Amino acid sequence: MAKKISIVVSVYNEEQGLEQFYAHTSQILEQTVSDTGWDYELIFVNDGSRDGSLDILRDFASNNKRVVVVNFAANRGHEAAMIAGIDVSTGDGVVCMDADLQHPPESIPEIIAKFDEGYDVVSMIRTEREDAGLFKKITSAAFYKVMNQMSKANFENNSSDFFGISRRVALVLKKDYRERVRFLRGYVQNVGFKKTTLKFKASARIAGQSNYNLKALVKLSLNAICNFSDAPLKMGIYAGMTSLAFAFILIIYSIVQFFLGNAPSGYSTIVVLLCFMFGVLFIILGFISEYLAIIFAEVKNRPIYVIDSIITSEGERRES
Ligand code: UDP
Ligand code: MG
Repeated sequence: MAKKISIVVSVYNEEQGLEQFYAHTSQILEQTVSDTGWDYELIFVNDGSRDGSLDILRDFASNNKRVVVVNFAANRGHEAAMIAGIDVSTGDGVVCMDADLQHPPESIPEIIAKFDEGYDVVSMIRTEREDAGLFKKITSAAFYKVMNQMSKANFENNSSDFFGISRRVALVLKKDYRERVRFLRGYVQNVGFKKTTLKFKASARIAGQSNYNLKALVKLSLNAICNFSDAPLKMGIYAGMTSLAFAFILIIYSIVQFFLGNAPSGYSTIVVLLCFMFGVLFIILGFISEYLAIIFAEVKNRPIYVIDSIITSEGERRES
């Protein structure tokens, strides 16, 4: 039987560019069917869009029996959407990509070729990004540096939410990686199996605006760090030891000064030290709270996403 690739596309308020995305991607996929013999399914996960995206997706599904639309009951974020897509996928390989053509569908045949060579994980590495300013580039590079330092796991520099995984990896993610607070591309790169990378150039968004603002990026980075490393939890010990050492030096200094007849003065020393120590203390407290919040989210055990309906060419099936 012919193999099949599942393309998972997360969609949140993308009405302006969706048609162009679909026209371009489906054309490449049809071409891929005749070139490689791999059939395809195109899974759109509508992540609670508030614009006309869902109607456009309905339209795709009614005209193409290879299109599946997973319609969320509410917005759950990009990662939840990718996870849902991976969960419903039935292909021998799964490719996750964005709906704004920043992830070129031209790379799909290359990913399929890697699956044919026996690879299970294909990480797509951005070599260039047209949309990002210097700030985003520098912070992103720094992020991967810090992550690799702090964690035993390995993170590809400049990796993205564009990747290919084999059925086996999809099943592992489906069964065993159900964390509420997560860093999906980190899991993909660290489940093991045979890995390879491919390069791609991220072009600018075709339409609309990026949904990731600075706050969302900080949250994603913090989640990633706390998910893959316990170094921040142990920061308190080192900060405590360092400040203790300083305290001893200060105590000895003060005693010596006292016996030399110098009245200990030092209003500014006290203020500076207080500010510094409280700064360190609150950062440590903040990190502990971050882990606590993760544990809280896991203990509550709420679903990663809730599906409203699944739409195919055969119609709409209401879930739950
Ligand atoms: N997205 C989503 N849910 C969200 C935010 C974004 O499914 O809550 C989708 C969005 O439609 C797009 C992809 O995730 O397909 C990446 O989002 P975006 O392009 O805004 O991020 P960027 O490429 O700027 O990092
Ligand atoms: Mg984008």
